Amino acid sequence: MTTAVVVGSGPNGLAGAVTLALAGVQVTVLEAADAPGGGTRSTEATVPGVLHDECSGFHPLAIDTAFSRSVDLTAAGLNWGWPDVEYSHPLDGGDGAAALRDVDRTASALGADGATYRRIFGPLDDRFDLIAQEFLQPVLHVPKYPLALGRFGVGAGLPAAAIAKLYRAPQAKALWAGVAAHAFRPLGSLASSAIGLALGTAAHRYGWPVAIGGSQAISAAMIRVLEQHGGTVKTGVTVRSLAQVRRETGADIVLLDTSPTAAVRIIGDDALPPHVRRAFERFRHGPGAFQVAFAVEGGVPWQHEPSRRAGTVHLGGTFEQIAAAEKDVARGRMPKRPFVLLGQQYLADPARSSGDVHPIDAYAHVPAGYDGDATELIIAQIERFAPGFRDRVVGMTTRSTGQIAADNANFIGGDIVTGANDPLQLVFRPRPTLNPYATGVDGVYLCSAATPPGAGAHGMCGYGAAQAALAAIGAAR
Ligand SMILES: Cc1cc2nc3c(=O)[nH]c(=O)nc-3n(C[C@H](O)[C@H](O)[C@H](O)COP(=O)(O)OP(=O)(O)OC[C@H]3O[C@@H](n4cnc5c(N)ncnc54)[C@H](O)[C@@H]3O)c2cc1C
Repeated sequence: MTTAVVVGSGPNGLAGAVTLALAGVQVTVLEAADAPGGGTRSTEATVPGVLHDECSGFHPLAIDTAFSRSVDLTAAGLNWGWPDVEYSHPLDGGDGAAALRDVDRTASALGADGATYRRIFGPLDDRFDLIAQEFLQPVLHVPKYPLALGRFGVGAGLPAAAIAKLYRAPQAKALWAGVAAHAFRPLGSLASSAIGLALGTAAHRYGWPVAIGGSQAISAAMIRVLEQHGGTVKTGVTVRSLAQVRRETGADIVLLDTSPTAAVRIIGDDALPPHVRRAFERFRHGPGAFQVAFAVEGGVPWQHEPSRRAGTVHLGGTFEQIAAAEKDVARGRMPKRPFVLLGQQYLADPARSSGDVHPIDAYAHVPAGYDGDATELIIAQIERFAPGFRDRVVGMTTRSTGQIAADNANFIGGDIVTGANDPLQLVFRPRPTLNPYATGVDGVYLCSAATPPGAGAHGMCGYGAAQAALAAIGAAR
């Protein structure tokens, strides 16, 4: 029987493990942390009975993928919940904009900019199932749906600032800035529209759902399937050397749910082909995040009514203000008014609250390795659009870039997307090659978010790496 070890139990490690196990491989997952799940862990971080997502909160790109179609995670206990409003963007004085599941309803609320919004997102929404199939795999492939991919590619290559210019009013521009800023890139840079167009269209096609019971339910469902197929997960085991893994387990296949630089250390200089080692060492990490989890009595008192119903709220003001903040972060300067993403998952999953005390998960974009305390800057951005917020906070914990990296070795310098989304790495991650999961060492594959299609708890990097491993032994499903 073929055997495999997966190093790391993030959503990609687990998706890789499940894919191998379904193909009849005997799989062991080794996880450094005391709890499995990587970026899909949930904890009562603030107040007993109030459940927070430690990392990922919203999962638009996990709903319909080759991986999700290959395994019935619903039968294994994973259920999704949707908020009324997918994401919102408050502006000063109670103004703002909101993205709803429906393109037309979103566009109608944007007044004079509605037609432009419809022109941008309507055609992508119509073909999004095909487009997503194309971009949720390595870029170097023969596209099955070239026209749909081409339509997406034209917009994706543009700077987000170029798309913002198509809108007239601050509301539509700001709505776009919030979703585009998920790229962690200056909004004037090439291809800074790619992630915004993907996530913005996904909001219409699939919504931005939360996992009922916390994002931990995503990893729990995968572990259940893995165990049903004879696999195991061992926590509290930090893997330091491939030689050791192979000596102790004799595994035929090793998947590394790690950063490329950690892969260099684990595989070792002797085994890794020099060109792969150089490419992995040159892999660029992006800016960092500073997180604050709040327990809030009565919820956040947003002035902008749709924000009270939104799963995700983007904070930072106008397009220009967010663009300035993102530019500062990219240059290594901490902005005074950072871009903040705020999750109200409990609106779609009320059991996460305790009575009228609700979990609010916020993080700011900060420079890589930022060692200051951004708590007050985050509170100020919330208070700006929700006066009185501070008085409702009954519990709070923070995680600096250093703590985020200490909790998960893949988030180097607080880089929660495991690799900068610059144009080159957006297309070729972790290196330009036809098989981006291969390390050049027989049977050893990288499967983390540093590989295609990149960040997110969708499991598609793990699925792709497992498929590459199975193809190499002639057992692809
Ligand atoms: C604050 C925050 C908010 C986010 N929001 C979202 C969101 O809303 N939606 C979304 O889709 N994504 C979100 N993400 C990103 C998402 O969590 C990651 O992209 C995703 O978890 C990557 O999965 P992965 O399997 O590649 O790696 P990870 O989830 O990072 O898991 C890697 C695992 O490997 C383990 N490991 C590493 N090295 C070793 C070793 N040597 N030995 C043993 N174990 C090792 C780590 O401990 C970790 O458990 C967010 C992340 C953060 C931090």
